[in-house]
Amino acid sequence: MSRVMLVTGGSRGIGAAVARLAARRGYAVAVNYHARADAAQAVVEEIRGAGGRAVALQADVSQEAQVVRMFRAVDEELGRIDALVNNAGILETQMRVDSMSAERLLRVLSTNVVGAFLCAREAVRRMSTRHGGQGGAIVNVSSAAARLGSPNEYVDYAASKGAMDTMTIGLSKEVAPEGIRVNGVRPGTIYTEMHASGGEPGRVDRLKSAIPLRRGGTVEEVAGAVMWLFSDEAGYTSGSFIDVSGGT
Ligand code: NAD
Repeated sequence: MSRVMLVTGGSRGIGAAVARLAARRGYAVAVNYHARADAAQAVVEEIRGAGGRAVALQADVSQEAQVVRMFRAVDEELGRIDALVNNAGILETQMRVDSMSAERLLRVLSTNVVGAFLCAREAVRRMSTRHGGQGGAIVNVSSAAARLGSPNEYVDYAASKGAMDTMTIGLSKEVAPEGIRVNGVRPGTIYTEMHASGGEPGRVDRLKSAIPLRRGGTVEEVAGAVMWLFSDEAGYTSGSFIDVSGGT
């Protein structure tokens, strides 16, 4: 039986790249989406067309009941779960802190932190040897912003990714004895729609000069790092982070 991976926010960008690469490496993949059923279905069809196994599952990861329902659907449709990629995330428009509302901060935390927490909890309930599971691994898609703080742009987003990193460390220690590894990947500036929604379409090109490798990264470069953390080569790696940020 092939191993099963759930990728949140898997219909586009980094999540879709992880889903495609995981399928090529033999995983059956649950592609979570929030609103874009058509985009998620396209990723699923592409994987199936190449001989793989995939299903599209709707859930707003910030909503507990929807996350619980999604994991039950994984149980029913794919039979088990071995790997979780907490990739779903939001970034709002660039803004200084003096204009930022508390509502905005709560929105960002709901998806980026609460969503990752709820999915990790449901995964642990299934993977942990304490609950009769067979172990597994979780990768949290954080951001270089967790280290840099994103001043004048998105301190709310940076704070959410900092919280995600701390959760990665705590969770990794808590569940390691139960056969679960938890790690993080911190992408830098990657060419995806997220930057278009940040209010400055040419942002990646503007930032190039500040990136030591002098370019933005690709979704495939992030997916490669994520998949390494699930590989047997990473069997002794937990509570760690891979920065995929061009040397930033
Ligand atoms: P993206 O906007 O293309 O993808 C984000 C995905 O998350 C989308 O499919 C979106 O629908 C989904 N999503 C958002 N809210 C959701 C919710 N409540 N429930 C379920 N799904 C939800 O952006 P991306 O660049 O592919 O981002 C993927 C991850 O990588 C995010 O966590 C992001 O913070 C992180 N990241 C991206 C960059 C970058 O430069 N693009 C840099 C650092 C970190």
